[in-house]
Amino acid sequence: MPEGDTVWNTARVLHRALAGARLTGSDFRVPQLATTDLTGWTVRESASRGKHLLLRLTAPDGADWTLHSHLRMDGAWRAYAPGERWAGRPAHLIRVVLRSAGAVAVAYHLHELALVPNAEEDRLVGHLGPDLLGPDWDPAEAVRRLAGHPEETIGEALLDQRNLAGVGNLYKCEVLFLRGVSPWTPVGAVPDLAGTVNLAQKLLAANRGRWTQSTTGSLHRGQTSYVYGRRAQPCRRCGTAIHKQELGERVTYWCPVCQPERRAGPTPA
Ligand SMILES: [Zn+2]
Repeated sequence: MPEGDTVWNTARVLHRALAGARLTGSDFRVPQLATTDLTGWTVRESASRGKHLLLRLTAPDGADWTLHSHLRMDGAWRAYAPGERWAGRPAHLIRVVLRSAGAVAVAYHLHELALVPNAEEDRLVGHLGPDLLGPDWDPAEAVRRLAGHPEETIGEALLDQRNLAGVGNLYKCEVLFLRGVSPWTPVGAVPDLAGTVNLAQKLLAANRGRWTQSTTGSLHRGQTSYVYGRRAQPCRRCGTAIHKQELGERVTYWCPVCQPERRAGPTPA
């Protein structure tokens, strides 16, 4: 599940493969960039912002550009050595190939692919809330943005990238389990929003640098989550069967005993 940590890892893979390199070829297999040729362009750096990838480039005329992409549910970038077999995914899913003397970067099933002047990056990512894995992570601002929607369910608010950037469905479910909060709780009734936000940041940060996502501390198959993907299996704390239900546009997993429903009440003085 590409969430903030996966995107952060992907940005690092691309940075290691291409940063500082001059591109010797490019192949865009998407209609909007079909005629784009980045041969001779230099890759300055690769960065992530929430779940967005930003590959920053300099054109031969010195202008700075950004190649933006989004992995959504199924996208991926892979880096290979020149001549190495591309083992990632079926070839028909390839959307971009970038070549340098030392590496080949191949993108599969990407979304929102766009090449924009560097100065316009904000148009693509300026709406995002504080990035949980960004250098400018600001928990107080994330709490302030969440608190601006007291009626919304916390399950939906955590996924809204305008509040905070990087949480996807896996971390949403896991954070709420660990905090003992039902996903249906209105934001205004969540006892400790700051604690929830800080835990989300800690979980994502703990998974940086590896591809297996775990919130339990175990990297063994079938033991990496408390509730996510565990419908009808026993809760690791109380043994109750884990529930799965649609919430907004996504499904959510939770333990009805460990995460009791709370209603909005009067704000304590
Ligand atoms: Zn439970």
